[in-house]
Amino acid sequence: MVDLDPGLDDLAARISRCTACPRLVAAREAAAGQGYWARPVPGFGDRDARIHVLGLATAPHGGNRHGRAFTGNRSADTLVAAMYRAGLANQPTSRHPDDGLCLHRAWMASAVRCPPPEHRPTRAERDACLGWLSAEVAALRELRVMVCLGRTAWEAACDWAGVRPRPRFAHGAEHRTDGGLLLLGCYHPSPQNTHSGRLTPAMLDDVLLRARDRAGLGPLDTDLEESA
Ligand code: SF4
Repeated sequence: MVDLDPGLDDLAARISRCTACPRLVAAREAAAGQGYWARPVPGFGDRDARIHVLGLATAPHGGNRHGRAFTGNRSADTLVAAMYRAGLANQPTSRHPDDGLCLHRAWMASAVRCPPPEHRPTRAERDACLGWLSAEVAALRELRVMVCLGRTAWEAACDWAGVRPRPRFAHGAEHRTDGGLLLLGCYHPSPQNTHSGRLTPAMLDDVLLRARDRAGLGPLDTDLEESA
């Protein structure tokens, strides 16, 4: 059971020490000798976030390498470039923890903070980690929208929020939880989806701009670099 602590720094430290899932501890630590972070990855972004971008699980050579969500792989490149275009990031790249990336009114995290083999957590592993999502969301008091990247992240968010029956996932699907958070579906920005044309930059822009609108953020902020 996760104690809901409003301090995000303390929470990040606690997440990074979690050992609740033996299989995933082994998976993340397999790369520990190669300069990888190899610990659970806390969420990253603006404490005043209104938009939460939720992935399913930490990438083995992205977050597990760099210790920051959506960093250092091609999915991160696609996502952060779109967040930049939507006025939610101060730069279009996310390469490493010291690259200067700041999010503006946005937060990024995965439902499962360690890298599961074949990117498939068990139901028990996913559910164990949703406690950390609850703790972070409790600390993000301005949150209004959760963009769910892919069907499995959408299902994780629905289960976490107690939405029954689960509404069908679709790109652009919306569902408001009883707690007032708007879930917004989006195809995952994986190379598989972008190379096949299943997800285009315009489709990603459409969802993020809609998230921005639903979150009450108004028109794009052209002075973002100053305000981030
Ligand atoms: S997946 Fe989540 S609950 Fe499991 S060990 Fe990692 S941080 Fe802990």
